[in-house]
Amino acid sequence: MTTMTDTPGGPSLPQERRLVTEVPGPKSQELMGRKRSTVADGVGTVMPVFARRAGGGVLEDVDGNSFIDFGSGIAVTSVGNSAEAVVRRATAQLESFTHTCAMVTPYEPYVEVCEELARLTPGDHAKKSALFNSGAEAVENAVKIARVHTKRQAVVVFDHGYHGRTNLTMALTSKDMPYKHGFGPFAPEIYRVPVAYPFRWLTGPENCAEEAAAQAIDQITKQVGVDNVAAVVIEPVLGEGGFIEPAKGFLPRIAEFARENGIVFVADEIQSGFCRTGQWFACEDEGIVPDLITTAKGIAGGLPLAAVTGRAEIMDAVHAGGLGGTYGGNPVACAAALGSIETMREQDLAGRARRIEEVMKPRLQKMAEQYPVIGEVRGRGAMLAIELVKPGTKDPHPEATAALAKACHQEGLLVLTTGTYGNVMRFLPPLVIGENLLEEGLDVLEGALSRL
Ligand SMILES: *Cc1c(COP(=O)(O)O)cnc(C)c1O
Repeated sequence: MTTMTDTPGGPSLPQERRLVTEVPGPKSQELMGRKRSTVADGVGTVMPVFARRAGGGVLEDVDGNSFIDFGSGIAVTSVGNSAEAVVRRATAQLESFTHTCAMVTPYEPYVEVCEELARLTPGDHAKKSALFNSGAEAVENAVKIARVHTKRQAVVVFDHGYHGRTNLTMALTSKDMPYKHGFGPFAPEIYRVPVAYPFRWLTGPENCAEEAAAQAIDQITKQVGVDNVAAVVIEPVLGEGGFIEPAKGFLPRIAEFARENGIVFVADEIQSGFCRTGQWFACEDEGIVPDLITTAKGIAGGLPLAAVTGRAEIMDAVHAGGLGGTYGGNPVACAAALGSIETMREQDLAGRARRIEEVMKPRLQKMAEQYPVIGEVRGRGAMLAIELVKPGTKDPHPEATAALAKACHQEGLLVLTTGTYGNVMRFLPPLVIGENLLEEGLDVLEGALSRL
């Protein structure tokens, strides 16, 4: 069945998978030639086609091929590309004014976004926010805030964590290639401790939460010293590390330890937040109320916006002028965020994320039974993944993962890979995707698996 969406990419963008050339087609190949001669090689490409229009659950390329979108531009266009409310509000803002600098002359949309963040994030304490341009910038600022508030310096992060590509956030990120390789020296006073990764926990998944928490706490206590620690920063579902859901009980234990020791608990929900995992925020699943929460990606339907939201007394520790940036909380991006939040609320996109899990997870689990290259199916809501292994072992199989992704791309399914070992295929469809497209995308994946 082909359905039309009412705005994205214009009313004429059919919600269908359609291949009219080889992938990449001739126009994409020509553009790729131009890209190669003028864009730095360090800016990589996952799928070598150039986008022309996108919306709902599809992305159309310049050759007229239409791909089912299981990536959402890395968990960004959760409301779909060019979502109606995002376009409407951002367009109105564009026509009023584009920039004053929030630190020079404030404007209402900035305040409205902060009011929404106070309402939507976990906990009913007094909250305040500051807005930035990128996720990395939000994480850096969370660290700045935590350091001023605690008058301590050390920051604790976790194995497989990812927090960005700026100098401080590279230090917080665990994976060398490609994020850190050759880019040092890195910022000091960063300490990495174990995370409860059930699939790869040496003694098995049963005691993973307890053992990992005990090890992490022991290292923090004995090696770093609790009185030196300003913040622990953790993703409630680890994204670039491989869609790792820390074993149940791990996060609450770390949060409790932080609370007992005056350490600021920072939840990095940049990838897992904004309805992606079936709640507004993933940490709600274990009743965690972070002191600070960082958001970006899904917040503004594709426009660059990020935030730190947290306890008012922590946020207000910083002196006036200590937080900001020329573009942080740009009015067009704020308007887009308000459109995005409106869409999530009115269309119950958290519910849609749970429905996506209901459709996808059983089918992925069936594939795992049939194809031993799938070591584990995991994730929740519309943040799902399969971890690929050499059959009969737990040895990571990045080659099979890359081959599977390529095969999907050539069949009209946009998928992304991830993981410390490069062996995780992740699924991040827009939350507004039609169920027919979800099923068809899974058919493509299954076909590609059978030919692997
Ligand atoms: C993407 C991401 C970041 C960095 O966000 P940018 O906007 O790319 O700077 C930080 N933390 C997590 C968990 C992310 O997924």
